[in-house]
Amino acid sequence: MSTRKTILAGLLIAGLCPAASKLNVVTSTEDLAAIGREIGGDRVTIDSIAKGYQDPHFVEPKPSFLLKLQKADLLAVVGLQLEIGWLPPLITQSGNSRIQVGSKGYFDLSDVCEILEHPTGTVTRADGDVHPLGNPHYWLDPENGRRIARAFKAKFSEMQPADDAYFEQHLKDFEQRLTDAEKRWDAQMAPYKGRKVVTYHRSLPNFAKRFGLDVVDYVEPKPGIPPTPSHTLEVINRMKQENVKLILVEPYFDLRTPNSIAQQVGGTAIVILPSVGGEKQVQTYFQLFDYDVNLLTTAFGKYK
Ligand SMILES: [Zn+2]
Repeated sequence: MSTRKTILAGLLIAGLCPAASKLNVVTSTEDLAAIGREIGGDRVTIDSIAKGYQDPHFVEPKPSFLLKLQKADLLAVVGLQLEIGWLPPLITQSGNSRIQVGSKGYFDLSDVCEILEHPTGTVTRADGDVHPLGNPHYWLDPENGRRIARAFKAKFSEMQPADDAYFEQHLKDFEQRLTDAEKRWDAQMAPYKGRKVVTYHRSLPNFAKRFGLDVVDYVEPKPGIPPTPSHTLEVINRMKQENVKLILVEPYFDLRTPNSIAQQVGGTAIVILPSVGGEKQVQTYFQLFDYDVNLLTTAFGKYK
């Protein structure tokens, strides 16, 4: 063995080689990856499975996902069954004991966030509801983003204690920038408090609560169920009665029904981003809110 190799081997054994000690994190969605990167910086490798322009309820599994999961030290998930249609078999097939449900490397962020639309009574999937445990789109409230960041900090420090001070500093910095950004978003949205909108899917309850919007109806009759003619008619009537002009549509849904509803009520259907990565220029948690707040305020400005 050459001297160089001996030194490298020594560093690896001592855990001093940066490449060897980096925590390998996989997230189910780009939103979790974006927040995790704010805290992990260059001390953690983070890769997400679903892309931000995909419907996170329905992601087509690929062999590359398995490769990511096989190498992961930590798997961060949104939970509340958001990923139930595609992730559980991948976790099992990965054969990676570190990330199995219940192990230290399985990290469900719904545990630390404010969750809305908790179901009451008996929960059944018979009607196709894809939100049986409460609404899983909770990352669209910056306060939940803050909670996710704090949880990542605690988890990274637990799994990579040598970098605790680094993660702590990054969390502090993130929280400061988030607090500043929230003031900006609040100021932009303030004139439109109480505005009524329709959304395609139930993606925005946390966003609506945070910024004072009133979501009066949904293009989907139930979460995960495509539009039906009778429900579409109900939405049109409701929008006419309540003078609602905007339909907010996630990027992965067909715009034909929203456009036809908008046409009949003299309104507009616009594509709102529920996730980081929904558009190329939206690569951070801050850019996600900047994009949506600008989109909404511009659209609201066109209607009294
Ligand atoms: Zn959903």
